[in-house]
Amino acid sequence: MGDTKGAFSRMRCKICGSRDVEVFLRSYGLRLCRDDFIKFFEKRVERAIGKFKMFTKEDNVLVAVSGGKDSLALLYVLSELGYNVSGYFLDLGIGEFSEKARKAILNFAEKFSIPIKIESLKEAFGYDLLEISKVMRRPPCSFCGIIKRYFMNKAAESYILATGHTLYDEAAVLLSNIIHWRLSYLARQGAVLPQELGFSKKVKPLIFLSERETAIYCFFKGIDYFMESCPLSKGATSRVYKHHLLSIEADMPGSIIRFLKGFYSAKASLNFPDESKKDMVPCRNCGYATTAEGLCAVCRIRQRLENYKH
Ligand code: SF4
Ligand code: ZN
Repeated sequence: MGDTKGAFSRMRCKICGSRDVEVFLRSYGLRLCRDDFIKFFEKRVERAIGKFKMFTKEDNVLVAVSGGKDSLALLYVLSELGYNVSGYFLDLGIGEFSEKARKAILNFAEKFSIPIKIESLKEAFGYDLLEISKVMRRPPCSFCGIIKRYFMNKAAESYILATGHTLYDEAAVLLSNIIHWRLSYLARQGAVLPQELGFSKKVKPLIFLSERETAIYCFFKGIDYFMESCPLSKGATSRVYKHHLLSIEADMPGSIIRFLKGFYSAKASLNFPDESKKDMVPCRNCGYATTAEGLCAVCRIRQRLENYKH
């Protein structure tokens, strides 16, 4: 984790003044004891939920979990803060990787008595991700996101769907959208996507927290998470953006949170054209909103798989 009690033994917690400093948050120049770091983390989550009107204690929230630190920290913190929350995991069937993720999720659910629904792509669809890739003759990453979004949307029909995207995930998307000047993506980028066209409302309560901060929170709360990244991810461009953002942050602490917050404040006056919902129609087979005439992307995959069987 990098920060140890020894390194801070002569310093005091900025909040309570205790000598038990365990965390240094360089972006804010803050040294904190364990309890005050936990309060800092939970307050940031509450602030994002309130600022963007994500949900209230009356809503049912479904957290999409992967077994990694961000999504498990999110599920845990929402439960701690008293929200009606449960988890959802789609097992894509990526060999040992998916098995380890499933194990971490089952352990978490049992340890903290938080319900998590597990759905297997193989059972729901008849094929796992690698089998689909073979039939489609396309790399798994080219349709994995479409499939995940489809099943998450179905699972979240009567819920608000929360994901564990953190500060650097969102800042990396922002940087990429700016570099490529994707104006309609910039119009849609935000901490909340409203409920529309049959899609559930989607929210990102960890938007003002870094991955390092979620890792520290998990450590303090005894959350054992799964650390490997997907073996099929080769050269994801989001990593390149994150790498550069981290180096900017190292030289100029606090820049990345200002970058993202500045975008959210300026967005209302920037008026980007949003064409993403142009000509959306329900899929002929499953009713899912799609831009294609007839079948949605997932039903077209389903059709290819069925043709392959015969
Ligand atoms: Fe899916 Fe793995 Fe590709 Fe991510 S890296 S899109 S989880 S196949
Ligand atoms: Zn469909």
